[in-house]
Amino acid sequence: MARYTGPVCRLCRRERTKLYLKGERCNSLKCPVSEQVTDRHSRAYPPGEHGRDRMRQGSEYLGQLREKQKCRRIYGLLEKQFRNLYEEANRRPGITGENLLQMLELRLDNVVFRAGWGASRSQARQLVQHGHVLVNGKKVTIPSYRLRKDQVVALKAPTRENFQVVRNRDTLDRQLAPWLETGDSGFAVTVFSLPIRAQIDEPVQEQLIVELYSK
Ligand code: SF4
Repeated sequence: MARYTGPVCRLCRRERTKLYLKGERCNSLKCPVSEQVTDRHSRAYPPGEHGRDRMRQGSEYLGQLREKQKCRRIYGLLEKQFRNLYEEANRRPGITGENLLQMLELRLDNVVFRAGWGASRSQARQLVQHGHVLVNGKKVTIPSYRLRKDQVVALKAPTRENFQVVRNRDTLDRQLAPWLETGDSGFAVTVFSLPIRAQIDEPVQEQLIVELYSK
């Protein structure tokens, strides 16, 4: 499946908020939208030649569009994938926006990220694609694989010694999501319940996404 391969900090600048797409760098002063960076060095304005000058009229549509783009970029999906996921969420019983977020959270690359093995979702995605991750003991290389309740995600034994994985585990200090349970000295996580909205800490207003797509 295709993915965005351009500069990711540009995406944060477009949304004017940190999307945490680059791992360690996102918490450092090198982040161009960091609040700690002085005004002179901050680039917390939209990218492009006229980014700094552009005066935005805050229309309802713009707010909905930006919210959708933000959510899509946080989870690293292209438009078509995201739209398909929305359609599926809409067909399911329950609240569409919450269904959508739940399905995004249950992606295998997201769970690898939440487990703290990858510094960013793109690094987690690479771990999956390169065959380092097992689901219930079987290798799965599809980042969008949707996990189900009670499935166990684990890192392969040789990968546990991988320099990057060890470093991430030592330095990231990421809180495990309340719907996941860790085991095997932190090298395995179990989906012990499906995530509900209150357990998903991404700053997304899913209702705006639903309003946009249901026009
Ligand atoms: Fe976004 Fe991270 Fe780049 Fe900052 S460093 S702009 S949070 S991707």
